[in-house]
Amino acid sequence: MLISGVQPFTMLDYPGKSAAIVFTAGCNFRCGYCHNPEFVLPELLAKMKDSFIPTEAVFRFLDERRGLLEGVVVTGGEPTMHHDLVPFLGEIKRRGFAVKLDTNGNRPEVVAAALSAGSLDYIAMDYKTSLSEYQALAGALASRVKIKETVELIKQSGIGYEFRVTLVKELHSAILIEQMVKELAGARCVFLQQFRPATTLNPAFASYRAFSAGEMEAIAEQFRATVLEVAVRQ
Ligand code: SF4
Repeated sequence: MLISGVQPFTMLDYPGKSAAIVFTAGCNFRCGYCHNPEFVLPELLAKMKDSFIPTEAVFRFLDERRGLLEGVVVTGGEPTMHHDLVPFLGEIKRRGFAVKLDTNGNRPEVVAAALSAGSLDYIAMDYKTSLSEYQALAGALASRVKIKETVELIKQSGIGYEFRVTLVKELHSAILIEQMVKELAGARCVFLQQFRPATTLNPAFASYRAFSAGEMEAIAEQFRATVLEVAVRQ
């Protein structure tokens, strides 16, 4: 594991639970709107390598928090890139914490292995665009086949889950949103998030625009036709 940071406490990132967040470094996507290029681009990661946190230090921290925290969120970058993710999640679970995994969904085989091992209690998957546009948005390594496979795996997982959709006016046309609604039909839970212009992996995206609150609510209504729970997160 390459662990770039640990946030000791959050009430916002694990639905219904107090949690710590473990941030892993590196990602197989290159989303233009990514707010954390320093955790994604190898040339920036190389500069940070001395500040990575050993897994043993994370486990020591968690041992001190037993009984004080309910869960641990493992997020990225993209956690499924790391070959030792599944045993790492197992070690967290063995310490009595509920485990939430955040993923971009491009490695269904890792999600499947973590589910089979019984190491996950909740999954949040970013669903970035319609399947046909994934490579254009997330880069050459994005696989529509694998994204689709992960969506189905998560829907059938039997654990808590959410699909998170960050909407950008310049990227998500009405036709594309209609397509996404069809692709996520039957999901239990979809959260829509407004894009926030800030530091972005591709500087051109810093000037892209968010949908208004009213527009976000109208898009949420479209998803409600086929998804049980839909909410807009500000
Ligand atoms: S999936 Fe995209 S937004 Fe998330 S860390 Fe990777 S490049 Fe950034």
